[in-house]
Amino acid sequence: MKYTPTECPKCGTRLANSPRGGRPTRWCCEGCKRSGEAEMSRLQSLLRGFEEGLYVDLLNYDEAKPRRLKVIAEMQRRYDDLAGVPKLTS
Ligand SMILES: [Zn+2]
Repeated sequence: MKYTPTECPKCGTRLANSPRGGRPTRWCCEGCKRSGEAEMSRLQSLLRGFEEGLYVDLLNYDEAKPRRLKVIAEMQRRYDDLAGVPKLTS
């Protein structure tokens, strides 16, 4: 399945179709690209920390704290958004 992004994941601006074909850009402008990519790397290191905490939870309490799972899921969703993972519509 080919995924064509329709809006900038950073600010939500509709993307113009790439006139010359080729690889479509996911960002509406250079600023969003930089900011979005910076946000992705922040999320990545945050997620790493939270996931390490998840294993600590599992070791200490035999179960993960629901709040931690929720936060991880939310950050993962935001990361996927920025990364251009197509949303599942159910
Ligand atoms: Zn944008």
